[in-house]
Amino acid sequence: MHVKILANEFKIENFVMRATPSMRTYKFRLYPTKLQEEAFEETIETCRRLYNSMLADRIDNEPGYYAQKQKLVAMKNNDKYLRRVHSQVLQDVVLRVDKAFARFFSGISRFPKFKRRGRYKSFTYPQFVIGFNLDVNNVKLGLIGRVKVKLHRQVRGKPKTGTIIKEIDQWFLALSVEQSPPDQRVSHIPIGSIGIDMGLSSVITLSDGTAIANPKFLKQTGSQIKLLQKEISRKQKGSKSREKARIRLAKAWRKVRRRRDDFAHKVSDDLAKQFSFIVFEDLNVGKMVHNHSLASAIMDSLWGKLRRLTVYKAERRGGRVLFVNPRGTSQKCSGCGSKVTKNLKERTHICPSCGFQVDKDVNAARNILNAGLEQALAETKPLLVQRRRISKFSQRSDKLLALR
Ligand SMILES: [Zn+2]
Repeated sequence: MHVKILANEFKIENFVMRATPSMRTYKFRLYPTKLQEEAFEETIETCRRLYNSMLADRIDNEPGYYAQKQKLVAMKNNDKYLRRVHSQVLQDVVLRVDKAFARFFSGISRFPKFKRRGRYKSFTYPQFVIGFNLDVNNVKLGLIGRVKVKLHRQVRGKPKTGTIIKEIDQWFLALSVEQSPPDQRVSHIPIGSIGIDMGLSSVITLSDGTAIANPKFLKQTGSQIKLLQKEISRKQKGSKSREKARIRLAKAWRKVRRRRDDFAHKVSDDLAKQFSFIVFEDLNVGKMVHNHSLASAIMDSLWGKLRRLTVYKAERRGGRVLFVNPRGTSQKCSGCGSKVTKNLKERTHICPSCGFQVDKDVNAARNILNAGLEQALAETKPLLVQRRRISKFSQRSDKLLALR
């Protein structure tokens, strides 16, 4: 008797600990181009045919879900239409057939029916990032491309699946989102993607238009350090006054480091809290500040710090940080992709091809975000934080641990 109660208690405790996250669905209006609409229609038709043939196969041969998934692989070799649809979308059709039978066998629904034309109205990307992804104005769909979407409300939680639905003459994205149970340590996983351009006029500029100005200490302490360095070089080696100046210089450096760290902590906190998918430029590949001024050396170390802290903080929250090659991001139009050359003094990006006009750093940040989304979409890995060592700044990586 006593043992039994204990066992029950354990069970209950176990259940509480594994409280399943709740799912929720958001519905957003899509604005496909004529060509994209045709692709939607073709995908639906291909999925409908697949659904019917899988249903017939179930009736004739009684295969299970996994056997049917195997069959799908073979079918693709002989069907060019199947090859034009994202493989996970096709797999979801097989799953739909399986679910229809499961509902029938458990007495919830009647026997699954064949779908006539016009009775099959949606297709599903079952995995976020791999099959589809979101940015501010677009949903990027595997094998279809970037489709304009109106995200009329903020998505809270972790996106799971995306279903494209036809409603007469309109198209919608049904986004299912996993909401973390409130008792979890990190109860709110932010969603939202952002690209970050690192520049000299603003420390960073975000793809949503936010610019974070250079902190004042950059110039102030920079010139103070220069003065102290000059002072030391004038003093006689081994003299007491030289030693004093040396200590003053070390203190000035310490001040810079502390202010830099404060600043980097504040900005990385904001980024990690607001965004779950963050894309930086990979400085190993592209631009570094090449003039050897003190201010730019401090700027470099500030960027390094900012990036390291952002990776660490975003990861802790279940977010993801990517690094992309920044080559061409300042010249490309983030609206249409055409090349728009500009000189260093020009502050605004104006595209002669599509008319898109925006601050040049914001344009670069948007390109960086797009490159990151593309990179993520091309991957076969699930949504995980990518760890990447930044060798330029790795001398101080032990500090990251000390900062905890
Ligand atoms: Zn353009």
